[in-house]
Amino acid sequence: MTTAPPRTEPDPSALTCPGDRVGLCSGCQRKTHKYGSGGSLLCQWCMAPVQAGWGTFVRYVNTRV
Ligand SMILES: [Zn+2]
Repeated sequence: MTTAPPRTEPDPSALTCPGDRVGLCSGCQRKTHKYGSGGSLLCQWCMAPVQAGWGTFVRYVNTRV
């Protein structure tokens, strides 16, 4: 896993998507491609460990607590 840059640095996805689709990451508050097609509530730095633990899709419901 690569080391995330400082939170003041926008996620690379924020630099390549339309400006109106940029929002703040739900995890670390850095700018990321949050809205619209291909967007995510989390920047790639926050998403990486989540995907590593849960697979491709994040599952919010777990009935076996
Ligand atoms: Zn983040």
